[in-house]
Amino acid sequence: MEHVDCVVIGAGVVGLACARALAAAGREVIVLEAGERFGGGISSRNSEVIHAGLYYPPGSLKARLCVRGRELLYAYCRERSIAHRRCGKLVVATSAAQIDELERIAARARANGVDDLQFIDRAEAARMEPQLNCEAALLSPSTGIVDSHGLMLALLGDAEADGAILALNTPALGAAVTAAGIELRTGGEAPMRLVARTVINAAGLGAPALAARIEGLTTAHVPKAYFAKGSYFSLQARAPFSRLVYPVPETAGLGVHLTLDLQGRARFGPDVEWLDLPADAEALDYRVDPARAAAFYGEIRRYWPALPDGALASDYSGVRPKINAPGEAAADFRIDGPQTHGVPGLVNLFGIESPGLTAALAIAETVTERLSAA
Ligand SMILES: Cc1cc2nc3c(=O)[nH]c(=O)nc-3n(C[C@H](O)[C@H](O)[C@H](O)COP(=O)(O)OP(=O)(O)OC[C@H]3O[C@@H](n4cnc5c(N)ncnc54)[C@H](O)[C@@H]3O)c2cc1C
Repeated sequence: MEHVDCVVIGAGVVGLACARALAAAGREVIVLEAGERFGGGISSRNSEVIHAGLYYPPGSLKARLCVRGRELLYAYCRERSIAHRRCGKLVVATSAAQIDELERIAARARANGVDDLQFIDRAEAARMEPQLNCEAALLSPSTGIVDSHGLMLALLGDAEADGAILALNTPALGAAVTAAGIELRTGGEAPMRLVARTVINAAGLGAPALAARIEGLTTAHVPKAYFAKGSYFSLQARAPFSRLVYPVPETAGLGVHLTLDLQGRARFGPDVEWLDLPADAEALDYRVDPARAAAFYGEIRRYWPALPDGALASDYSGVRPKINAPGEAAADFRIDGPQTHGVPGLVNLFGIESPGLTAALAIAETVTERLSAA
């Protein structure tokens, strides 16, 4: 049986950020990744938006860690020359009734410490983005985009420079809490048994299923998982806008919005499609059904009436690791440490959906704080 100090399960942006933080604090770290490469999960299937922190309930982890994570992320991108752009975003009201909703978003954003929002009237919006149709808009200057792969590469590089080791093709199968520490069983070609003092479950979509296989963690501390797929369609034409454009949000997502990549190409999405829970996250079908485009045309034309017929092509999809059922209010991030569940050295990360990419560095900060407070 091998003894290690820290094991991080999952090499997505959150696991890598945690590995970096722990290795920087002088801890011995092994990252176990089920896939054949790092970052192949949710972290490479998202909008790559650096969110400002407008929408989340004040005081929630999502609100606090988005605002803090955004600051840390911009600084880290500058320091490590990671491709990013502070392009700004417009949240648009396409009917008079939605203007009240913009006011609510602005108030909530202020409560979250986002104090740079600007209210834009119809004429000003048309001047900024001539193809945009709206009654009014909120401009968020601190929203941006980031190269998520470049970010993960930098996090991994930092962690490895401080001695962390990444083990690919190494799924964590289960664990047991023992007097010596947390005993982990891994699969893959060279199954191992490890005893770790600290275990971070950052397995994304697989985090609740893995937590359910930790003997000694009571089931009351394992949330039920729900998966909500989001499909994207790319625009087969020049991007009509220079900023990101979002409608006012809907219940399970932020609405079919326009995002730009760092090459300036435009894509629309993600929509929301709740899935039946597959037996394991590996069995997910990420293909984008071209038939879903029909609904996109209607939604996009509310704010971009000139969208030509046939201009949208199926692109990629991602799946949100929800811990709330369809129709329920969006759950907050869960960073369950020893103070929550009573297992020394264990941190479970649940429901790390958007803005998890933005918040990753702040999540890692919180994880290390919860471990040192235990
Ligand atoms: C459609 C969509 C759009 C989004 N847009 C944005 C956005 O614009 N901005 C933003 O801030 N956030 C966004 N997010 C959220 C963001 O992408 C996620 O919060 C973030 O990527 C989660 O990272 P993670 O490391 O927790 O998960 P992942 O990247 O999924 O990493 C988990 C890793 O764990 C591995 N794993 C699973 N089980 C095991 C196991 N048993 N053993 C070993 N390894 C295991 C997986 O293979 C995977 O590599 C979006 C999410 C979605 C779905």
